[in-house]
Amino acid sequence: MKVVVVGAGFAGVAAAWAARRAGATVTVVDGGPGASSLYCGGVDGLRAGVPEELLSALGLRLAKDTHIATREGVVRTTDGRDSALLDLAPLAGKHVGVVDVPRDDWDGPLLARSFAASDWARSTGTRFELVPLPLLEKGHERRVSSYDFAAGFERPERPAWLAEVLKAKAGPNAWLFGPWLGLTRSLAAELSRATGVPVGEVTSPPGGAAGARFELRRDALLASLAVERVTGRVTEVLTTGGDVTVRLEGGVVVVGGALVVASGGFVGGGLLLSGALSGADPAGFELAIRGLPPVLLRGELAQPVSSLFGVDLAARGRGLLEHVGLPVAHDGRVSASSAVFAAGDVVGPVPPSVGQALESGLRAGAAAAGTA
Ligand SMILES: Cc1cc2nc3c(=O)[nH]c(=O)nc-3n(C[C@H](O)[C@H](O)[C@H](O)COP(=O)(O)OP(=O)(O)OC[C@H]3O[C@@H](n4cnc5c(N)ncnc54)[C@H](O)[C@@H]3O)c2cc1C
Repeated sequence: MKVVVVGAGFAGVAAAWAARRAGATVTVVDGGPGASSLYCGGVDGLRAGVPEELLSALGLRLAKDTHIATREGVVRTTDGRDSALLDLAPLAGKHVGVVDVPRDDWDGPLLARSFAASDWARSTGTRFELVPLPLLEKGHERRVSSYDFAAGFERPERPAWLAEVLKAKAGPNAWLFGPWLGLTRSLAAELSRATGVPVGEVTSPPGGAAGARFELRRDALLASLAVERVTGRVTEVLTTGGDVTVRLEGGVVVVGGALVVASGGFVGGGLLLSGALSGADPAGFELAIRGLPPVLLRGELAQPVSSLFGVDLAARGRGLLEHVGLPVAHDGRVSASSAVFAAGDVVGPVPPSVGQALESGLRAGAAAAGTA
């Protein structure tokens, strides 16, 4: 019983986890980073729930009405978060220290003012106060990427040193950092324990710590589940007899009893806007992988479209891009096929989110294992 999963974002890893739990052997084929590697650390779009074991392996914590601070200076609600992000909800009415560090990607004074001026802070009487901290050891740390800066905090002596720095600045009921609190270690939790007050981050930029943590935890989880990994881009899917054959660039072939397509949306590379804008060919949306049913756009066939220049996003709104995808049944089954399932951003017409990627991945992985 073998399930092939195409894609190693949140949907692919959830599908692989569920299929393994259901007793299948699993091969994950993945063409490189997708939206999950770029996400900011917020978890939106949850409906049903995700097993604690999977959440904890991915370093996620779910709670309705979580409040996170974004690096754009906004306080917003989510359904959950990378556990390094500070949940502001329990801090309503308290005093949050915003670290002031002279990094080029961090405007502490502006962020502290912006959080303090948010509707949430005003309505709950929460204070955000700027607190200068001597976090830069060397001049170049001002400019290194937030990923490298986060990695620098993992050096063995840094967490204990940082805890002492925070303890010496008694006052705030919590500390809000940039997205720098480590990649492999749970420094936010370590510092919270050491200081006795919650310590956490704002959201990450694309390519920052949250996405890097996702990749590291995913790789560890898939290895612990003995999931086979194949790197490369799938070009075509063939269903013959009881088997599903997946063809990769370069001629590699992977065969299984069932397939979960978790190849992402426009960011992950699962969906494409194809056709010449010159009008030589009809333009429209399509899957990057051949051999699957056509994608739909809010129930309409997405390719070809009537306009010579493709879908008129100016007239119909860019939000339309969130409604392109493969139509599937509730368990992720792709219409007209018994052994092909889909999950995550490649599915339409559901807006993309980590919550929907995880939940649809779990359903598709379990159903695929039952078919394989
Ligand atoms: C900048 C940014 C910020 C975001 N912030 C949030 C947020 O705050 N909250 C939230 O809920 N959501 C957020 N999202 C959305 C969320 O990240 C995505 O909805 C989710 O990660 C999608 O997961 P996925 O597994 O479906 O796709 P992806 O993570 O895109 O994974 C697709 C996978 O498929 C693989 N693939 C694609 N084509 C092929 C092929 N032909 N062959 C082999 N492999 C292939 C890719 O290599 C990749 O591994 C954000 C997204 C971005 C880009």
